[in-house]
Amino acid sequence: MTKPCIFCEIAAGRMNAEIVHEDEHVVAFRDIHPQAPVHVLIIPRKHISSMLEIAPEDAELLGHMHLTARKLARDLGIAEGGYRSIFNCGTDAGQTVWHIHLHLMGGRSMGWPPW
Ligand code: 5GP
Repeated sequence: MTKPCIFCEIAAGRMNAEIVHEDEHVVAFRDIHPQAPVHVLIIPRKHISSMLEIAPEDAELLGHMHLTARKLARDLGIAEGGYRSIFNCGTDAGQTVWHIHLHLMGGRSMGWPPW
Protein backbone atom coordinates (compact mmCIF):
# COMPACT_ATOMS: atom_id res chain seq x y z
CA MET A 1 0.00 0.00 0.00
CA THR A 2 1.35 3.48 -0.83
CA LYS A 3 1.88 5.86 2.08
CA PRO A 4 -0.73 8.64 2.41
CA CYS A 5 0.43 12.15 1.57
CA ILE A 6 1.27 13.86 4.88
CA PHE A 7 -0.01 17.25 3.72
CA CYS A 8 -3.32 15.70 2.58
CA GLU A 9 -3.51 14.14 6.06
CA ILE A 10 -2.94 17.54 7.71
CA ALA A 11 -5.54 19.18 5.44
CA ALA A 12 -8.05 16.49 6.35
CA GLY A 13 -7.36 16.92 10.09
CA ARG A 14 -6.01 13.38 10.46
CA MET A 15 -2.51 14.54 11.34
CA ASN A 16 -1.58 17.26 13.84
CA ALA A 17 -0.23 20.62 12.79
CA GLU A 18 -0.35 24.12 14.22
CA ILE A 19 -2.90 25.55 11.83
CA VAL A 20 -2.90 29.34 11.41
CA HIS A 21 -5.49 29.61 8.64
CA GLU A 22 -7.93 27.39 6.79
CA ASP A 23 -10.71 27.90 4.32
CA GLU A 24 -12.48 25.95 1.59
CA HIS A 25 -9.42 25.87 -0.67
CA VAL A 26 -6.24 26.12 1.43
CA VAL A 27 -4.76 25.25 4.81
CA ALA A 28 -1.78 27.06 6.38
CA PHE A 29 0.26 25.68 9.27
CA ARG A 30 3.61 26.21 11.01
CA ASP A 31 6.58 24.36 9.55
CA ILE A 32 7.77 21.59 11.88
CA HIS A 33 11.42 22.72 11.39
CA PRO A 34 11.12 26.50 11.12
CA GLN A 35 13.94 28.27 9.27
CA ALA A 36 12.82 31.74 10.37
CA PRO A 37 10.91 33.15 13.37
CA VAL A 38 7.77 32.90 11.23
CA HIS A 39 7.73 29.92 8.85
CA VAL A 40 4.35 28.80 7.61
CA LEU A 41 3.38 26.43 4.79
CA ILE A 42 0.31 27.25 2.70
CA ILE A 43 -1.10 24.22 0.91
CA PRO A 44 -4.07 23.64 -1.36
CA ARG A 45 -6.60 21.08 -0.18
CA LYS A 46 -6.36 19.67 -3.69
CA HIS A 47 -3.44 17.26 -4.05
CA ILE A 48 -0.95 18.53 -6.64
CA SER A 49 2.42 16.81 -6.37
CA SER A 50 4.68 19.55 -7.73
CA MET A 51 4.62 22.93 -9.45
CA LEU A 52 5.36 21.02 -12.66
CA GLU A 53 1.89 19.52 -12.38
CA ILE A 54 -0.15 22.71 -12.10
CA ALA A 55 -2.78 23.21 -14.80
CA PRO A 56 -4.50 26.30 -16.21
CA GLU A 57 -7.57 25.54 -14.07
CA ASP A 58 -5.37 25.90 -10.95
CA ALA A 59 -4.64 29.58 -11.68
CA GLU A 60 -7.26 30.91 -9.28
CA LEU A 61 -6.17 28.50 -6.56
CA LEU A 62 -2.52 29.60 -6.93
CA GLY A 63 -3.58 33.24 -6.77
CA HIS A 64 -5.55 32.45 -3.63
CA MET A 65 -2.45 30.88 -2.08
CA HIS A 66 -0.49 34.10 -2.69
CA LEU A 67 -3.30 36.26 -1.32
CA THR A 68 -3.37 34.02 1.75
CA ALA A 69 0.39 34.58 2.15
CA ARG A 70 -0.19 38.34 2.07
CA LYS A 71 -2.98 38.10 4.66
CA LEU A 72 -0.90 35.87 6.95
CA ALA A 73 2.16 38.12 6.59
CA ARG A 74 0.02 40.93 7.99
CA ASP A 75 -1.66 38.76 10.66
CA LEU A 76 1.65 37.27 11.83
CA GLY A 77 3.48 40.60 11.93
CA ILE A 78 6.06 40.13 9.16
CA ALA A 79 4.53 42.33 6.44
CA GLU A 80 6.30 45.48 7.56
CA GLY A 81 9.82 44.03 7.76
CA GLY A 82 9.43 41.95 4.61
CA TYR A 83 8.92 38.31 3.91
CA ARG A 84 9.81 35.59 1.44
CA SER A 85 7.29 33.30 -0.27
CA ILE A 86 8.74 30.33 -2.14
CA PHE A 87 7.74 27.16 -3.94
CA ASN A 88 10.52 24.59 -4.16
CA CYS A 89 9.99 22.53 -7.30
CA GLY A 90 11.86 19.25 -7.66
CA THR A 91 14.84 17.66 -5.98
CA ASP A 92 17.53 20.19 -6.96
CA ALA A 93 15.38 22.97 -5.51
CA GLY A 94 15.06 21.06 -2.25
CA GLN A 95 11.48 19.81 -2.53
CA THR A 96 10.98 17.01 -0.01
CA VAL A 97 7.19 16.83 0.33
CA TRP A 98 5.30 15.99 -2.87
CA HIS A 99 2.23 18.14 -2.30
CA ILE A 100 2.77 21.74 -3.38
CA HIS A 101 3.32 24.21 -0.55
CA LEU A 102 4.11 27.89 -0.47
CA HIS A 103 6.71 28.65 2.20
CA LEU A 104 6.01 31.97 3.95
CA MET A 105 9.05 33.07 5.94
CA GLY A 106 9.89 36.22 7.83
CA GLY A 107 10.99 37.77 11.08
CA ARG A 108 14.71 37.93 10.25
CA SER A 109 16.78 39.36 7.44
CA MET A 110 17.61 36.86 4.70
CA GLY A 111 20.44 36.51 2.22
CA TRP A 112 20.32 36.03 -1.53
CA PRO A 113 20.91 33.78 -3.37
CA PRO A 114 19.63 30.89 -1.26
CA TRP A 115 22.07 27.95 -1.41
P1 5GP B 1 10.19 21.40 0.89
O1 5GP B 1 11.59 21.01 1.27
O2 5GP B 1 9.43 20.24 0.26
O3 5GP B 1 10.08 22.66 0.09
O4 5GP B 1 9.47 21.75 2.26
C1 5GP B 1 8.84 20.79 3.06
C2 5GP B 1 8.69 21.44 4.40
O5 5GP B 1 7.73 20.68 5.12
C3 5GP B 1 9.97 21.45 5.22
O6 5GP B 1 10.29 22.80 5.58
C4 5GP B 1 9.63 20.57 6.43
O7 5GP B 1 10.21 21.05 7.62
C5 5GP B 1 8.12 20.62 6.47
N1 5GP B 1 7.50 19.43 7.01
C6 5GP B 1 7.79 18.15 6.66
N2 5GP B 1 6.98 17.29 7.33
C7 5GP B 1 6.17 18.06 8.10
C8 5GP B 1 5.13 17.74 9.02
O8 5GP B 1 4.78 16.59 9.25
N3 5GP B 1 4.52 18.80 9.64
C9 5GP B 1 4.88 20.09 9.39
N4 5GP B 1 4.21 21.04 10.06
N5 5GP B 1 5.86 20.43 8.54
C10 5GP B 1 6.50 19.42 7.90
